[in-house]
Amino acid sequence: AKESGRNTFQFYTPDLSVNVLERLQLEMDLRRALAQQEFVLYFQPKLDAVSGALTGAEALIRWRDPRHGLIPPNRFIPVAEEAGLIEPIGQWVLSEACRQLLRWQALGVAGLSLAVNVSARQFKQADFVASTEALVRAGGVAPALIELELTESMLMSDAGQTAEKLHELKALGFSIAIDDFGTGFSSLHYLRHFPVDVLKIDQSFVREMFDDAAALAIIDAVIALANALGMGSVAEGVETEAQRATLREHGCRTVQGYLIARPMPSDEFVGWARAYRAG
Ligand code: C2E
Ligand code: CA
Ligand code: CA
Ligand code: CA
Repeated sequence: AKESGRNTFQFYTPDLSVNVLERLQLEMDLRRALAQQEFVLYFQPKLDAVSGALTGAEALIRWRDPRHGLIPPNRFIPVAEEAGLIEPIGQWVLSEACRQLLRWQALGVAGLSLAVNVSARQFKQADFVASTEALVRAGGVAPALIELELTESMLMSDAGQTAEKLHELKALGFSIAIDDFGTGFSSLHYLRHFPVDVLKIDQSFVREMFDDAAALAIIDAVIALANALGMGSVAEGVETEAQRATLREHGCRTVQGYLIARPMPSDEFVGWARAYRAG
């Protein structure tokens, strides 16, 4: 088997065989990372666009690799999905998010909701609702404090199943946000049938809002849609005062981005939140 394995590589171009080996190495490293707790959550604040009040945070995973340092999620989440590792990673994310939320409360940073990103494959698991409830319950956190960020494309793939899961999550008290809204293949139809709480305007629209009239028009339309349907709206990727001011004028409820703060480790977030609230 070893021989044929070696021969197999001769069919690949040198480049491709390197990719295959790199992919296998990355998978092995991810398994180790999970076992050795090398993942860490960073937190980025969300502010009420009008009052400026700190209302919540988004948890964003990073991998502290002993050899390569801090690795961003785009470099390993897709591989984790394909390797079947996203379920245990997603479960770790939820537990860790709950643990940190309780710590913040104990440290006097209370009243925040915490948004957690869910991957398509994770959401598709038959036991996603039960396992999410169990993890949050075990974590000692009220589901009402957890906002699950899902993307449009994952909601569209099996509308019947999706609606059922979302209604169950909703009944348990979780809040549902649609991430990167406007970038996927979406049908406005599902907004009537899915219990969605928040539309999250993709950062590409925010980035282009002063350069491309269409981007601002889409932002306006999404905010109007959210308001008409009684949903919240979050603009992400807010980097300038001008963007923040325009979003506020156009009725956006919540803002998030480097202008306010970059994602930070938990302790730094606590320090930031205290200082921010102290004025
Ligand atoms: P996302 O959920 O759309 O997260 C927003 C990304 O924009 C984050 O990148 C964040 O750090 C970055 N960002 C925030 N403010 C600004 C800004 O003002 N300007 C710019 N240019 N970028 C900003 P990050 O942390 O690298 O995450 C990338 C993606 O990885 C996320 O996109 C999400 O899809 C995925 N991801 C992150 N954490 C998790 C996780 O725990 N589970 C899963 N399944 N996916 C995750
Ligand atoms: Ca997100
Ligand atoms: Ca997003
Ligand atoms: Ca994104």
